[in-house]
Amino acid sequence: MSDPADAGGSSGGNETGSTDREYVDRAIELAEEAVEMGNTPFGALIVLDGEIVAEGHNETLSEDDLAAHPELTLARWAGRELDADERARCTMYASTEPCPMCATGIHYAGIGRVVFGVAGETLDELTGDVVSIPCAEVIRRAGSETAVEGPIAEAAAMELHESVYGDESADGES
Ligand SMILES: [Zn+2]
Repeated sequence: MSDPADAGGSSGGNETGSTDREYVDRAIELAEEAVEMGNTPFGALIVLDGEIVAEGHNETLSEDDLAAHPELTLARWAGRELDADERARCTMYASTEPCPMCATGIHYAGIGRVVFGVAGETLDELTGDVVSIPCAEVIRRAGSETAVEGPIAEAAAMELHESVYGDESADGES
């Protein structure tokens, strides 16, 4: 179905459009939008058959909802709006590796593939409050068919996290 988009490089000539890296870059843009709206820096989107069919960003603070992570919101959306075959053909792109809660939602939704920008473990080195059980570990132990790939955009994703969380800790020290 999809092109060998993670081949590295920047050929840009894929028949079906964007590469994995371009979609993750879009997820990072969505994470920036989350911050602009007063939320934490996480974004995600779903691609089905070469098209973005849903986008979301973190809304935990604006909605006062601890479960309003974009990956879980999108998994629930997919469960409502897509049939099982379509969900199996979906790739979810996330700016940061989905947490165990979201990984479980992705498993329940039967999303075929997940690609993320930076590992939760790497973010945890900055914030210390990530539940850093790898998404692939949750998926494996759930017995899920979902393929998990990443990190593929560590520097770009961490730049945003550092701009948000790095400043906070600097303020705390002053
Ligand atoms: Zn999550």
